[in-house]
Amino acid sequence: MEYSHRYHAYPTQEVAERLEHHLDVHRQLYNHVRWDYENSPEDDRPSEYDQNNKLPEWKQRWPVFGELHSKAAQATVARFHHNLTVLSELKEKGYSVGRLKRQAPAEYRSVTYNQSGFDLDEKRGHDKYAYVRFSKIGWVKIRYSRSIPDHATIKEVTFKKETTGEWFVSFGLETEDADLPEKPDVDSLDASNSVGIDLGILNYIHTSDGKTVDWLDLEDDYECLRREQRKLSRKDHGSRNYEKQRQKVAKVKYRIRRKVLDYQHKLTTWLVNEYDAVFVEDLDVKRMLQGDGNARNKQDAAWRQFIQILEYKANLYGTHVVQVETKGTTKECARCDVATLKPIWVREHSCPSCGFETDRDANAAMNILQRGFAELGLGWPEDTPVETVTATDTTQFEFVSARHVIETGSLPS
Ligand SMILES: [Zn+2]
Repeated sequence: MEYSHRYHAYPTQEVAERLEHHLDVHRQLYNHVRWDYENSPEDDRPSEYDQNNKLPEWKQRWPVFGELHSKAAQATVARFHHNLTVLSELKEKGYSVGRLKRQAPAEYRSVTYNQSGFDLDEKRGHDKYAYVRFSKIGWVKIRYSRSIPDHATIKEVTFKKETTGEWFVSFGLETEDADLPEKPDVDSLDASNSVGIDLGILNYIHTSDGKTVDWLDLEDDYECLRREQRKLSRKDHGSRNYEKQRQKVAKVKYRIRRKVLDYQHKLTTWLVNEYDAVFVEDLDVKRMLQGDGNARNKQDAAWRQFIQILEYKANLYGTHVVQVETKGTTKECARCDVATLKPIWVREHSCPSCGFETDRDANAAMNILQRGFAELGLGWPEDTPVETVTATDTTQFEFVSARHVIETGSLPS
């Protein structure tokens, strides 16, 4: 199992300058790797292995490359080839992709040390701090907000300069699968320990056991972003003030990204602690490619990231996560399966066939739960929430605020 820990870093002025310098040389190396690749005959493109073998020769021709740690240089070659793979996968999925571009200084922000060339000193920092050393660069102080588990192996360490000018260090970790909790036996799953979740049209998450979790309210942050972007548009491009304002915009964007990520970490931690199985909507790529509006795309991207984090946590905590086909989950009745056409403004589900009544999104979430059970090869769950809901005649959701979820699920994220 692979995962990572990320820490805020506080290099001294002197070390920061060396970090910057290495970033730039790695960027030049990346661009050279790209140039070498692009200028090879189409039927004889160099592999990662081939290009690693060229490194000593390049170092002789351009001594600046000799300043880099050799494993870090190889990681930069690996990054180019990884990007190539990602590009061809996107192409296969139907995206229109071009070729990999040269990296400008503003775009190239991180360097990875793979396997060696780094040390971690947990004792050197006071309180919540520690130090990490990058070979050929020096020691960097980090805010060591959570320790790396004893049973984890550090596979690689990356330093990164964010667009805000702040530095971060992240550790790529690996643990033996034996150290992870096992996922519960599929046969032990039932409606009391499993949940189906539906993303409501108003950016709410609905659960099949009748909970509503409100989405993060970012209106103020987006308003702030629009304000700073308007200011930026009035500055002279390339001037000092423009650069200052550009950094302000980057800071707000970064704050929004971190807030979303933090919220998703807390929400997923809550879900994997609360349930043995979580069933979610499967978003198909086609919908995203249709590009029906920027907001829709943004929401899809956020949902995709949410599922990724959920799956990662599920492995860590021993929880099943299953993506299910959601076509028709809103129309179908969760109790009798009869489909009824339902315009988007109709908020209730009221089945003309069996009389089952509940909230539109509760019905969808219950369908997702049942499809999840079918996907795992299990029968209709005993004691389904459908029965619970009809028995108590609950047509309203219990409302769970994000803060509540965050507090109850606040394990280290
Ligand atoms: Zn029905």
